[in-house]
Amino acid sequence: MNNTIVLNNRPTGKPQESDFKFVNEDKPEITNGEILLKTKFVSVDPYLRGRMSDAESYVAPFELNEPISSGSIAEVIESKHEAFKKGDFVSGALEWKEYQTSKGKDLLKVDENKAALSAYLGVLGMTGLTAYFGLTEIGKPKKGETIVVSGAAGAVGSIVGQIAKILGCRVIGIAGTDEKVEMLKSKFGFDDGINYNTVKDMTKAIADACPNGVDVYFDNVGGDISDSVHVNINRLGRIIVCGAISGYNETAVPTGPRVEHFLIRKSALMQGFIVGNYAEKFSEGMQQLSKWLKEDKLTYSETIVEGFDTIPQAFMDLFEGKNKGKMIIKI
Ligand code: NDP
Repeated sequence: MNNTIVLNNRPTGKPQESDFKFVNEDKPEITNGEILLKTKFVSVDPYLRGRMSDAESYVAPFELNEPISSGSIAEVIESKHEAFKKGDFVSGALEWKEYQTSKGKDLLKVDENKAALSAYLGVLGMTGLTAYFGLTEIGKPKKGETIVVSGAAGAVGSIVGQIAKILGCRVIGIAGTDEKVEMLKSKFGFDDGINYNTVKDMTKAIADACPNGVDVYFDNVGGDISDSVHVNINRLGRIIVCGAISGYNETAVPTGPRVEHFLIRKSALMQGFIVGNYAEKFSEGMQQLSKWLKEDKLTYSETIVEGFDTIPQAFMDLFEGKNKGKMIIKI
């Protein structure tokens, strides 16, 4: 049998268990030019929330009663495809199924001798590349500058902060628990951290942690946290809008202070992006991230939960901050 998870409802507000449905199918068989894949690791990511609604976006919405898909690592267990052999591991956007067939299009072979397989979903995968390109291409941090990262203890944020340290910056991270803030400093080498859930005045906390102001803000969360960082942005500062998880479950468009005035006053730049914009440079990014990993300049955290059945809960837990580093399901 083949366990599959389909989208049962389009979530309203926070996603819940009833939005997902487990369906048992027959195990698929391959024909010529195909491979049979057994899923090993599944990545759950905040952007999947957007694909569960039917609003127009940069990726097509998931269809109701059809399997959900996300970045995954799978093992080739049968092959009738000349480019793949039994025992190969591949990474790609795969369906939430224990077994599936593929024609190999858009699959990348990954080498478990070079890095742990799960790392290809995080630091050496989509979230690592997001951190690298967002920071270097838009933030363009210079040695000695101050960088603030929100969602700092997550998959993207924890890598952003470390890259900024490698580039010689002072790095302040914002996260949701004291334990995470401690981890930012002890494990990832951030200079300081702020727990947005306990601090009374975020604007002041950022000003105190950044006596020279904020030159670069890498924003993973949006909302009130970002409003407080924007006030502290320096002249010619850069605001990298990577994500806005604080608003993903909102049913009405959130409002807040207007940004125009301080952008003008500070001649600051604010730019959104999606990692796919840099697809042509992915191999360059991977090489750089692998090199830093090998040199022990970069490290990473993972929250790995086990079992196919835990995929929906692991996804929902992203919105409760249950993960440290990359949230991954081991099948
Ligand atoms: P994370 O690993 O950071 O996981 C999500 C984290 O967000 C949680 O652990 C939680 O940490 C925090 N969070 C949850 N709800 C809120 C809230 N209401 N307010 C503030 N923080 C909250 O996820 P990723 O690293 O994968 O993604 C980070 C961001 O980057 C997301 O917004 C995502 O959509 C975006 N992204 C954008 C890409 C692009 O191409 N532009 C590509 C990849 C990701 P805490 O305990 O600190 O609250």
